[in-house]
Amino acid sequence: MKIETRNCIGQGFSTGTGKTFQAVNPATNEFLSEKFYVASATDADAALQKADESYATFAALDWDKRALFLEEIAHQMEALGDDLLERASLETGLPIGRLAGERGRTTGQLRMFADYIRQGRWVEATIETAQPARTPLPKPDLRKMMQPLGPVIVFGSSNFPLAYSVAGGDTAAALAAGCPVVVKAHPAHPGTSALVAMAILKAAQLTHMPEGVFSLLYCNGFTIGEALVTHPKAAAVGFTGSLNGGRALFNLAAQRPNPIPVFAEMGSTNPVVLLPGALSENAKTIAAQYADSITLGVGQFCTNPGLLLGIKGPELTQFKEALAALLSAKLPETMLHKGISQAFNTKSSDMLAQPEVALLAQSDTHPATGAGRPMVATASGTAFKANPALHQEVFGPFSLLIECDDLEELKTCVSTLQGQLTGTLIGTDTEWEASKSLVQALTQKVGRVIFNGVPTGVEVCAAMQHGGPYPATTDARFTAVGVDAIKRFLRPVAFQNTPDALLPKALQNANPLQISRRINGAYTHNAL
Ligand code: NAP
Repeated sequence: MKIETRNCIGQGFSTGTGKTFQAVNPATNEFLSEKFYVASATDADAALQKADESYATFAALDWDKRALFLEEIAHQMEALGDDLLERASLETGLPIGRLAGERGRTTGQLRMFADYIRQGRWVEATIETAQPARTPLPKPDLRKMMQPLGPVIVFGSSNFPLAYSVAGGDTAAALAAGCPVVVKAHPAHPGTSALVAMAILKAAQLTHMPEGVFSLLYCNGFTIGEALVTHPKAAAVGFTGSLNGGRALFNLAAQRPNPIPVFAEMGSTNPVVLLPGALSENAKTIAAQYADSITLGVGQFCTNPGLLLGIKGPELTQFKEALAALLSAKLPETMLHKGISQAFNTKSSDMLAQPEVALLAQSDTHPATGAGRPMVATASGTAFKANPALHQEVFGPFSLLIECDDLEELKTCVSTLQGQLTGTLIGTDTEWEASKSLVQALTQKVGRVIFNGVPTGVEVCAAMQHGGPYPATTDARFTAVGVDAIKRFLRPVAFQNTPDALLPKALQNANPLQISRRINGAYTHNAL
């Protein structure tokens, strides 16, 4: 299948600066043949001008039309067949089976948002009728609903080339909300990005979307990302990636003359608290679960369990021995790209260089270049409380086991944690009663609390929370997964004493969209 190597600006194409870059196959370290054109500042401007021109039309479309667009994107992604999966595998080293699952998740997300916007609850239509006779002052008629923010800039991450990339959760949520999208393609998977972009552009044509509703720009450096985030027409940013990247873009957006929100989903060590009762019953089974979770996808998940906390004793010793034996038998595997594998080597070495940290076990197999060697290290609770370096994420198949003297020290360690995407508790029914304060302390630090499971595996559904206090994200009030992700790209607008014909349909007296609305405090489908 031919891959478009030019930047897509609406339905047009540009060779930008004329400079090119190539993707690298991380398994062989060889360049792939296609040369992708690095976008110019003029391209960034053109993409945002077009996005802005399409905004009013796109935002005002019937929800069903936007839903059909999302469904058509899903259909066009499926129509790419194995070509898409094979290209993604070449560019990321991820196995085809994993990518097939990820495509299912991506198309599922698009269809989920299509269903959700048709239901109309997302606009949160709220009506308070006038009380002209109220004293001392009459009450006006007030009607409020959510409106799309404007053009959204999306940065995908390298570890989810489909589900958190060109047509991933951020793009799906922004388009569902009625916001045009400009994607800065991740340079580790440009061919995958191009194929998905063409699927989106074809869907846009087939469903008659306004020109400029979607653009994709390439850059193997920061220039274009920075130009997009600082462009006056950009209204919000969705970012998935590293803490450094997310924070840099957040700072840039805050320094604009008109600051805009940056919803950055970044790193997390996803602490796991191992209570002694559970370990005394099931140390080996829990160790097996965690050896698998730490090494799943070569540890390249934002929910990878990078931190384990337990209480010293025979149970923890048994767990440690079982985990060490299992980890030693795991094989190093190819990581996503050179940058990630170099960062893994540097950060794991930095962690092991801390005077209080000792290597517990590592894969018996020496890794090939670009492969991540599974490892587990240990440190005391005292060291963890005193040394912030022990709190850093090592992105890859690495976990640090903190051995606390007692439950009190374990609680103190939890209270020193930074913000996290998830926190897990492993315990028995008899241990929960005494763990309420621990659960409370963990809840304050994380977006999702898990009992007796592993943090890897993020269910895409309405009740999922994928976010958490900084540095897990830049705004803990929102989720990047599930239908509530749409809220990041909406803002409320109230209409006061507005003639019925001038109101959006969602707020008109007759309730022509037949949606659920909150009228004078009660939810109803009734007309006024
Ligand atoms: P990354 O290196 O931060 O890259 C993400 C994107 O941002 C790339 O397009 C990158 O462009 C761009 N970028 C990074 N720094 C920038 C800057 N200062 N200015 C402008 N653009 C910048 O992240 P990654 O390596 O792809 O992903 C791995 C990380 O993502 C891990 O830390 C992982 O925990 C995190 N992650 C988080 C979640 C979540 O939901 N919380 C999900 C998945 C992954 P260039 O590549 O051209 O520099």
